[in-house]
Amino acid sequence: MSDHKTTTQAPSNFIRGVIERDLANKSFEGKTWAGSPGDASHHEKAAIDPAKIRTRFPPEPNGYLHIGHAKSIFLNFGLAKDYDGICHLRFDDTNPEKENQEYVDSIKSNVSWLGFSWEQNKTSHLYFASNYFDFMYQAAESLIQSGHAYVDKQTPDEIRINRGTLTEPGKNSPWRDKSIEEHLTWFREMRDGKHPDGSMILRAKIDMASPNINLRDPAIYRIKRAHHHNTGDTWCIYPMYTFAHPIEDALEKITHSICTLEFEDQRPFYDWILDRLIENGLLSKPQPRQYEFARLNLTYAVLSKRKLIELVEDKHVTGWDDPRLPTLEGARRRGYTPEGFKLFTYRIGVSKADSWIDYATLEESMREVLNISCERRIAVLDPIELEITNYPENFEEDCFAPNHPLKPELEKRIVKLSKSLWIEREDFMEEPSKQFFRLYPGNMVRLRYGYVVKCTSFEKDANGKITKVLCEYLPDTKSGTPGSDSVKVKGNIHWVSKAHSYRGTIRLYDKLFSVEHPGSGDTNYLEQLNPNSCITIEAELEKSLESIQPGEQFQFERHGYFVADVKDSKPNMPIFNRTATLKDTSQKI
Ligand code: ATP
Ligand code: MG
Repeated sequence: MSDHKTTTQAPSNFIRGVIERDLANKSFEGKTWAGSPGDASHHEKAAIDPAKIRTRFPPEPNGYLHIGHAKSIFLNFGLAKDYDGICHLRFDDTNPEKENQEYVDSIKSNVSWLGFSWEQNKTSHLYFASNYFDFMYQAAESLIQSGHAYVDKQTPDEIRINRGTLTEPGKNSPWRDKSIEEHLTWFREMRDGKHPDGSMILRAKIDMASPNINLRDPAIYRIKRAHHHNTGDTWCIYPMYTFAHPIEDALEKITHSICTLEFEDQRPFYDWILDRLIENGLLSKPQPRQYEFARLNLTYAVLSKRKLIELVEDKHVTGWDDPRLPTLEGARRRGYTPEGFKLFTYRIGVSKADSWIDYATLEESMREVLNISCERRIAVLDPIELEITNYPENFEEDCFAPNHPLKPELEKRIVKLSKSLWIEREDFMEEPSKQFFRLYPGNMVRLRYGYVVKCTSFEKDANGKITKVLCEYLPDTKSGTPGSDSVKVKGNIHWVSKAHSYRGTIRLYDKLFSVEHPGSGDTNYLEQLNPNSCITIEAELEKSLESIQPGEQFQFERHGYFVADVKDSKPNMPIFNRTATLKDTSQKI
């Protein structure tokens, strides 16, 4: 069994190293916090920030969170927890399109589900970047006034051509050196709706010859007539993400702003914006610093919002919470647990090297956690009848099955034995193959928690399909009674009594894609869907499972981990989703 200490303490990583160094160097000494986000004057006279560090998880509410986001949530909230800090949940909603309340609600519920809270000491640290629009506008005007931003009236094509290439410097816009007053007037006209969408933009004035293309006068505000979920129609200009993000961090006094590697080239601009706004007196020191880590890439899955949206909208899956999707809503319905995600994120670590994580690592983490948390029950997934011919008619007796072999304190439950049972079809072979130790004519197996039985015969239908296995039991061999192991057998099979079981629906989930890297190269990920990713079967289940509550999880002996579906289960009619098999079988296929 795994070492569960791994779930109690996060392994070290380079970001932890940075934080420990910052704390040792007292890099944030004197950092103040006014109790809410704000500019320099707001924080200036405030008390020393009780939080040693501040991190943030900043999703854009334009889709559902996926397993990659879980990595970022554990990282940001985990660091705050471990270093006496606070993690903000910030909705990065500066882009008016595609953002809506449904996503906001789901994201909040996912973060809570993973075990984190944005509330600390009764203060909520739930923020919306769109609440900073007034400040961002003011910051943009201040950059114009200090000669660090200008309105560009070139067409988008001209801007693109004049940006240059990796090998050639760009060219200055003809509008770049107009007077500050003119730029200010034009920017205000942009804000006041005097110009059509796309006709002009506000750009930072940095260096059109910079080897880093991101510093060639990047756009900071654009005209976009779009309704915003929070600010409605107040604005027809919106800040660009790369301008907005450092400002959001600074207003919230974030110390470590952690993002994925693709933002590495943006870091100089992140620092440039903050340096200018601190010089202009709008923001206070110490300023946030950006650190980049490798995003999670998972085999047999897609983790891009665009692709996930396509899978849902084109109905390749049943919805955002389809248990096959790598969304957190789907994972939860599948039976993946917060504790499993924690183990997984600790195991994969945090690094600066891009890599693929095998889906098996995720499943194995879930299994390890479920093995400890789940009680055992019995289900026969592909039932065939077994009759104990020498067992009395209309008789039943108690057998005792441990609820959890690793937790004797959970005691045993009674499972009833009778003359007619259900066993797995695959536990019988008319003509046994080599190494087959289960039922075949003349062979003996143990009925788990019951007696040793010997196969005497079987019945077939007209098509040659086996319909019934006939056995005799050995009365002195009942599990738990003295001398029960006097007869040695190699096979041990599970069963349910026909009179003490019920027929129920089970969904056997498997990987959504049949290839390791869906969509890689020239391939189309929609053509790589696994046709067997969800197989619905009718199984025979132990009676006690009939009345369990949606969301309850069990290990079905010899089969794997299952959860009662939270959406489709009905009272006394749970539908079970397979979370994971007991072992990784993918290598053997
Ligand atoms: P998109 O797919 O639209 O680019 P996104 O994945 O960047 O979206 P955001 O809502 O901006 O989604 O992400 C919120 C946070 O989660 C960001 O800080 C981002 O770095 C992090 N994040 C997103 N995807 C991953 C991933 N695969 N691995 C680790 N962190 C991720
Ligand atoms: Mg993003």
